[in-house]
Amino acid sequence: MLSYQHLYHAGNLADVHKHAALAWVLDYLTRKEKPLTYIETHAGRGVYDLDSDAAVKTGEAAAGIALAEGLFPPDHPYRQRLEEARAAHGPRSYPGSPLIAALGLRESDTIHLAELHPQEHAHLKAAAKDWGAHVHQQDGFELALALTPPTPRRGLMLIDPSYEVKADYEAIPRHMANIHRKWNVGILILWYPILTGAAHGPMLKALTAAFPDGLRHEVRFPPVREGHRMEGSGLFTVNPPYGLEAELKDLTTRFAALSKPRTTP
Ligand code: SAM
Repeated sequence: MLSYQHLYHAGNLADVHKHAALAWVLDYLTRKEKPLTYIETHAGRGVYDLDSDAAVKTGEAAAGIALAEGLFPPDHPYRQRLEEARAAHGPRSYPGSPLIAALGLRESDTIHLAELHPQEHAHLKAAAKDWGAHVHQQDGFELALALTPPTPRRGLMLIDPSYEVKADYEAIPRHMANIHRKWNVGILILWYPILTGAAHGPMLKALTAAFPDGLRHEVRFPPVREGHRMEGSGLFTVNPPYGLEAELKDLTTRFAALSKPRTTP
């Protein structure tokens, strides 16, 4: 039974981390004319309303994108996708990763989105009706294996599970190794939470052993409320594109600026 709903968390600092990196990678890949494939294994509903009861209740966007947006220059691909999403869906909307991809990609590119939760899938299907995307209500890893190697072969897969089931941590390195075996040129970006107790530790060890050239990037931030266990956000990238490491260093600097005490004029 799936109970995770991203609308409670959309626009939090983990989203800022993941979505800024995603927007940059897509921007980099589309500098070449050659078409590409984008596959997302855990898509969510695609667009979020930051004024929804759920978003207001957790206050995660207020402690996330509301504070972090100004740290990105206006010409950063993430800032551009945020502006385009607001123009299309209203000033209090926030783009999930499928919308960031749809806005950043071209008609010649192919998008596949998997979302298993019936309600989230229905929202995604409605939101994506004009995006030219293939929306699947299917297990994300099952779809990933069925689609790889994709046509076009050049491309990116975002893997953003909700980690509701502890077994996810154990299964992910195996899934990623199977996908990479079938699609050795594909860029795979995995997001993981950094929780009190470091549940992600053994998974990262297995990933680093399987992908010694993988790029790991983590940012830390204070828990959004007392008792909240998320202390940071991580990305593990297989086949990182040129320039990603430098871009992630800039992200580290931006997140560091967030934790500096603010001076009042
Ligand atoms: N990637 C989205 C974004 O950044 O906007 C957020 C995705 S959210 C963290 C994870 C989503 O995965 C949830 O909407 C959940 O319903 C969905 N999900 C959970 N298990 C799944 C599975 N086995 N296959 C596909 N989707 C799944």
